[in-house]
Amino acid sequence: MQIDLEKEKQEIEAAFEGLVKSAVHAKKDAATKKRIRKAFDVAHEAHKDVRRKSGEPYIFHPIAVARICAEEIGLGATSIICALLHDTVEDTELTIEDVKSLFGEKEAKIIEGLTKISGVVDANISLQAENFKKILLTLADDVRVILIKLADRLHNMRTIGSMRRDKQLKIASETLFLYAPLAHRLGLHSIKSELEDLSLKCQEPEVFEEIQSKLKKTQEVRTRFINHFSAPLKKALEAKGFKFEMKGRPKSIYSIWKKMSNKSIPFEEVYDLFAVRIIIDSEAENEKSDCWQVYSIVTDFYQPNIERLRDWISAPKANGYESLHTTVMSPTGKWVEVQIRTKRMDEIAEKGFAAHWKYKEGSEESQFDKWINQIRELIENNDANALDLVDDFKLDLFSDEIYVFTPEGEMKNLPSGASALDFAFSIHTEIGEQCIGAKVNNKLVPLSTPLKSGDQLEILTSKNQRPKEDWLNFVKTHKAKSKIKSSLKEEKKEIALIGKAMLDKEFKRLGIKRENISLNELKKHFKETSDIDFYYGIAKNTIQLNHLRDFEVKNGTLKLKRTFPNRLKTYFERKKPVKSERKDEILVIGDNMEKIDYSLANCCNPIPGDEVFGFITVAEGIKIHKTTCPNSVQLMSNYAYRVIKARWIEKEKVDFLTGLKIIGIDNVGIVNNITQIVSNELHVNMRSIKFESYDGIFEGTIMVFVQNTIHLNNLISNLKKVEGVKKVERIDS
Ligand code: MN
Repeated sequence: MQIDLEKEKQEIEAAFEGLVKSAVHAKKDAATKKRIRKAFDVAHEAHKDVRRKSGEPYIFHPIAVARICAEEIGLGATSIICALLHDTVEDTELTIEDVKSLFGEKEAKIIEGLTKISGVVDANISLQAENFKKILLTLADDVRVILIKLADRLHNMRTIGSMRRDKQLKIASETLFLYAPLAHRLGLHSIKSELEDLSLKCQEPEVFEEIQSKLKKTQEVRTRFINHFSAPLKKALEAKGFKFEMKGRPKSIYSIWKKMSNKSIPFEEVYDLFAVRIIIDSEAENEKSDCWQVYSIVTDFYQPNIERLRDWISAPKANGYESLHTTVMSPTGKWVEVQIRTKRMDEIAEKGFAAHWKYKEGSEESQFDKWINQIRELIENNDANALDLVDDFKLDLFSDEIYVFTPEGEMKNLPSGASALDFAFSIHTEIGEQCIGAKVNNKLVPLSTPLKSGDQLEILTSKNQRPKEDWLNFVKTHKAKSKIKSSLKEEKKEIALIGKAMLDKEFKRLGIKRENISLNELKKHFKETSDIDFYYGIAKNTIQLNHLRDFEVKNGTLKLKRTFPNRLKTYFERKKPVKSERKDEILVIGDNMEKIDYSLANCCNPIPGDEVFGFITVAEGIKIHKTTCPNSVQLMSNYAYRVIKARWIEKEKVDFLTGLKIIGIDNVGIVNNITQIVSNELHVNMRSIKFESYDGIFEGTIMVFVQNTIHLNNLISNLKKVEGVKKVERIDS
């Protein structure tokens, strides 16, 4: 193939000129222009002998990337310079030091970030999770790194055709996995859609073609429908003096495909193929009222579905998106989504936060900065493994948002499905960890209750609270999850230390040298794989040390033995638990009220009927103390995590489930007082509890296990004594 080098040179020059023209957001002073030119020259020189797979000179790629940055993301001169240089350090002789001396510190930092990302992203596909973490870390450094990387990826996707098929597939899946969600979270709507469409086109070419051709075929019908639908609106808007643009925007092919596959429906049944968008010219101070006025005009003509009204003007999304969405009934009986926004809002919606900057000009802290700060905080104190991080984080990236309020009226964005506990953690880690309950719109609700937009929350805390394992079932945010996990891990470690000490003590008692014992053999015997789990099990008594009788001492070391001579059996057996004097009462321990080994503390000598608790000790397993024991305050406050529930129950009697309805006047603490009576004072086991209050009246239903009617009546009369309680009655279910 003969290449006309002279012609090619002209084409390169023309491409660069096109870039300079497109850089409308960059300062246009002579010095800046010179710097951009210099970056181009340096890149051109560095890549001069290289061609892309398509055969064209490599420099076309950085120029195109820089142009995407300028034109489609709205970035300024620094980003354009860095985009031009983005592949130099990685692929050519140029070094970071060179960039630093030629352009400056900032540019060098960004190029370094870009080079680092490339290193990880182009590695093995199974490393995706690690990559994601690294990418997020760079994001926290300078977000321009990610934006340029997105532009780079977009251009690579646009020109993916000349690559090898297996490489295409790898790049496409990575794009869907990492880059599209990132673009979404950064508010780069058009780039996100294009990345998704291009990935689908690469992965499922037939599906893509089919949807595309069906969209084309239905284009005319759609246009007619939109014209018909918008004609009266246009007239009315013009009459009111609005300057506006109205368009029927089809959904992206990828989102149509997603809908088809999620709902297993054919193309023809995807009804919301497009939305009508009304973009108005509006002065900054009139934006909100103008949009609502347009809303009012639209709904004069078409009946809105109130449930699908979305006001992202009063409460913008975390990625900066502002718009007013309504879904209205068209004359043909089809629901149509109408999006109302100003030109400024539209630009932000399409180009994301860079456009945002243009309008805000670094004045107040934008939603976006808040988001970046959250990410930084998250990653910096996260020691979870990368895969967990990705899972939790992608959830944050993809989920829709809700808006809730603190008691002071401060707004918080949370992913949809988030619970009161997520909210607590979003305010402060300590508030989350010590959360015992929440009031949503002044009603006490379980921590697991999913929140709705507009809820106002008050969090109740207690110094003695600690994160529980089951909390993980109802938190959605990455922050809450990672904090709970690390706290549980800490707690487990502390308890495991006790277990280890218990084991050491037992060995000492048996006169066995610790270093002679194979921990692995012990773990294998008890079917535990990690040291922590093994020691934890000992402390929690799920691994009982008297099982050590299955081992024997041979020459001072412990070996699993095949037969169990009686001599050894007694040798290893732990002392028998002290049984209660009153034969009809037994002690049950733990959340599941199991019968496990224990011994009674000497300091307070509890007897059946006493109010008691269990304490995990180093040497003697679970010790039972009276709650009135002189040591109890010290034990509970310093070692709350070693305390476990315990209570006496009558042996022969089986508890039965019954329900109580409580009505009273809502006041602070009433719920707490009631639950205290039920669980603490009367030792009744609660199955479920539900409280509601309206207009100051409070109504609660509790399901409890009681032993007999005497017990039940006793409970009822005690509950009636609680301040504010007016009525307590038994219900059947
Ligand atoms: Mn590149």
